[in-house]
Amino acid sequence: MHPGSRRRPSTASRTLAGSIVVATLVIGAASGLTVMQMRRSAWEQIGRVSQNLLESVEHMVDRNIELYDLSLQAVVAGLQNPEVDGLAPGLRQAVLFDRAATAKGLGAILALDAQGQAFADSTAPVPRRLRFPDADFFRIHKDREDAGLYIGKPIKTMPDGRWVIPLSRRLAYADGTFAGAVVGTIDIGYFDALFSRLSLGPRMRIAFFRESGELLVRSPVLEDAIGKDMTAAPHFPHFLEHRSGQFVATGYTEAVEGLFSYGRIGHHPLIAAVVVPTQAIAELWRPKAMVIAALVAFLCGGMIGLTLVLQRELERRARAEERALAANRDLARLAHTDGLTGLPNRRHFDEAFARAREEAAGTGTPLSLVLLDADRFKRYNDTYGHLAGDEVLRAIARVLQRQVREPETACRIGGEEFAVLLPGSTGPEAVARAERIRQALARLHIPHVANESGIVTLSLGVAEGVPGEAGGQIFSAADAALYEAKRQGRNRVAARCGSGEGARVA
Ligand code: GH3
Ligand code: MG
Ligand code: MG
Repeated sequence: MHPGSRRRPSTASRTLAGSIVVATLVIGAASGLTVMQMRRSAWEQIGRVSQNLLESVEHMVDRNIELYDLSLQAVVAGLQNPEVDGLAPGLRQAVLFDRAATAKGLGAILALDAQGQAFADSTAPVPRRLRFPDADFFRIHKDREDAGLYIGKPIKTMPDGRWVIPLSRRLAYADGTFAGAVVGTIDIGYFDALFSRLSLGPRMRIAFFRESGELLVRSPVLEDAIGKDMTAAPHFPHFLEHRSGQFVATGYTEAVEGLFSYGRIGHHPLIAAVVVPTQAIAELWRPKAMVIAALVAFLCGGMIGLTLVLQRELERRARAEERALAANRDLARLAHTDGLTGLPNRRHFDEAFARAREEAAGTGTPLSLVLLDADRFKRYNDTYGHLAGDEVLRAIARVLQRQVREPETACRIGGEEFAVLLPGSTGPEAVARAERIRQALARLHIPHVANESGIVTLSLGVAEGVPGEAGGQIFSAADAALYEAKRQGRNRVAARCGSGEGARVA
């Protein structure tokens, strides 16, 4: 690998990374869906529980109001009966007010005349001196004939400070003109006691209020909230949209977000509501979701970590493999290279020679071989030393590298012996090339006092191969030509073209 270049991840490494990304996404999506499902079922469950509770509350309140109304209606009927009018006060009281009106949590029932003055009282044969000309329930019956059962705004009774809800009905003369009202009260504490018997979760709230906005009962009790006008609450309009329903909003008496379930109580202008804080619903699913999220994060983190380790290992192996291949390539190159001159060596020559012969035989093109031998080289060593001799061998190699071009090959095949393979060259062409090489070296004028010419020279033997001829024969022919060049006085080129022909000096 180039030192500056960044290595591209291997296919295996990329496949691994891709699979782990996909697996992580799939696990993430699956657990996300599971958590969403848990959240939905928690909300549905609380929605159902709230709805059931709401129905119980509506039924309870409605039934109590109905029963009390029956007592009020009995008083109205009694007062319209002329026979009752003539009874003695004690007897009249017993006839007018039945036992229901004296039940626990239910207050006194009073009959008021057209001026709002009490003239019959469930608690005493002689009515107390009480007047309610300005109470909302009195004025409603005075103004409207059709008010029916009227559930008034909550009232705080004195001196005990109890909160009560007034329920009233109109009294009329035979001709329908206003004759007064019958009014009774239900203790708000009575409803609190009723609701406390319901199995409420610690965070659930129950309330009921008038459609006109005044809060009547809230459980658990919140004294300050009774009678409070809730019409200003941002969520109040929701209650008026439908007869019943559910919505999520922030409460008014407590600024807490919750799921509101609401509905009308019977046919009365009253609304009951059950509220569960969203926080309480979240507590049903969130802790489990956290556990799932932690497990998934741990799992995915582990997988990613493992992948990174594996990836690193894969990369390390790929790098080691690449280094081993490069080392092999270097070794192979070294095995084919001559250490002194850097030229291909004898081993390389043998292989290249065999390949070149095959190619020449296949294509029918000529192939020539030149063998070169430094003249009187032993004497050079003897005169100038072995190291200087090495330098001369390198000089010869440089000359060959300059003179020989691909696909030609120059090799050092022995001590001071070289070979040049010339594919595509005929014998005469090879002789010309050999002559150029000889002259190129001679031009260097490397002094060699022990040589006949006084400089380092080469003798060269050239042979052109005949198609189908054995490699050994071409080599022997070139060698014979080289011998001939030596014999004829060295520093020359001799050629032997084809087997059987005699060598000639170029
Ligand atoms: P001729 O002209 O007949 O070729 O004579 P020559 O002396 O060159 O031939 P010979 O075969 O007698 O001697 C070859 C010499 O080449 C002997 C050896 O010392 C020298 N030689 C072989 N290999 C190396 C080498 O790697 N370095 C050096 N400096 N000399 C070498
Ligand atoms: Mg030799
Ligand atoms: Mg020699």
